[in-house]
Amino acid sequence: MSIFDLANKYIPGGVNSPVRAFKAVGLEPIFIEKADKAYLYDIDGKEYIDYVCSWGPLILGHNNEEIRKNVIKACENGLSYGAATKLEVDMAQFICENIKHIDKIRMVNSGTEAVMSAIRLARGYTGKEKVIKFDGCYHGHSDSMLIQAGSGLMTEGIPDSNGVTKNCAMDTISIPYNNLSLLNQVFEKYKNNIACVILEPVAANMGVVLPNDDFLKGVRKLCNDYKSLLIFDEVITGFRLCFGGASEYFNIEPDLVTYGKIIGAGMPVGAYGGKKEIMDMIAPNGAVYQAGTLSGNPIAMTAGLTQLKILKENEEIYKNINNISKYLFENIKDIIKRNHFDCSVNYIGSLGCIFFTKENVFDYTTAKKSNIVNYAKYFENMLNKGIYIAPSQFEAMFLSNEHNKNIIDNTLNIIEHSIKNI
Ligand SMILES: *Cc1c(COP(=O)(O)O)cnc(C)c1O
Repeated sequence: MSIFDLANKYIPGGVNSPVRAFKAVGLEPIFIEKADKAYLYDIDGKEYIDYVCSWGPLILGHNNEEIRKNVIKACENGLSYGAATKLEVDMAQFICENIKHIDKIRMVNSGTEAVMSAIRLARGYTGKEKVIKFDGCYHGHSDSMLIQAGSGLMTEGIPDSNGVTKNCAMDTISIPYNNLSLLNQVFEKYKNNIACVILEPVAANMGVVLPNDDFLKGVRKLCNDYKSLLIFDEVITGFRLCFGGASEYFNIEPDLVTYGKIIGAGMPVGAYGGKKEIMDMIAPNGAVYQAGTLSGNPIAMTAGLTQLKILKENEEIYKNINNISKYLFENIKDIIKRNHFDCSVNYIGSLGCIFFTKENVFDYTTAKKSNIVNYAKYFENMLNKGIYIAPSQFEAMFLSNEHNKNIIDNTLNIIEHSIKNI
């Protein structure tokens, strides 16, 4: 029996998170045994250059020596206490001192939890009920975020998963990304009942989609005008676009920020933070309840804080990964042009993606024009040649500080070959 057969016997779909199942590319998943620097190794010993990097957190690459050493040292003191530790304070202080719009921050265990909690807080703080999100942005799998656009452009949403109630969906409105005029109309329509607008300041869960020039500024202004909170979901962008994340990169201050993935450096972590007067509404200070038995876990805090400190003390890392990323994506553009492939490229900082459509992609509708059958063939060709990219068109490629020019040159050859052989 193959491992995947065995996995399917005991785990729904054989995996603990759907995209891992490779269903979108019509294959069976590879099973990973270990990873080091820019490489993954599967249980058959095959080596892959990794452009998923655990979906973003591994800015320093796999198995970073300093993080590993600190984690091993932390393990020697026990794995969890369910009680307050100085490490949690260190982490919170570090983030608050370095990110100017965060006065206080609460640790949770995943990005899903961070978003779910931030939305509850936004509702508790504003006393309003509706939430606006954007089609194609992913904010984890809490009920109120598993909502797709309703029948009309400005109407309340409908469930995007069985098990989410219509009543829950009614409080979420999902509209196209980069569409300020529609956002304006939604605010007009629901006037004083919008608790918050949540978005990925760079959308990275429908492929990579960049915000138009005035989009984020416009969202900020509408939130101010209608006294709604702006939540930046920086699970992907925080500490990746630059140390200060998207808010620093685009110079926009959100009211609340959610983090995940990156701040755990590969350990399961999430966090939400923001202005003091909002954050002080959370229990035990305030009336918005939120808790977590393993939140602020000492091993996760050690891993995350070690990475954040390395990034803070070595800001040239950003220059390096952004340069190498630019080299990768600009060369991919050349390959596409030279061969007249029906593809386009979106990238920013150290994340990006190839869409299998010639058209400019700026929202979910345009992303959906991609030929996913071609993506699946491209993925298979890449995998066969030892390159691991996301097993879905609608995900990002992530680079780490361990992806050097040699690795990229090798990758570029294989990309050209893989698209030619679709
Ligand atoms: C991954 C992701 C989440 C959810 O985080 P989990 O840790 O998987 O629950 C939320 N928001 C964004 C932008 C993400 O990319």
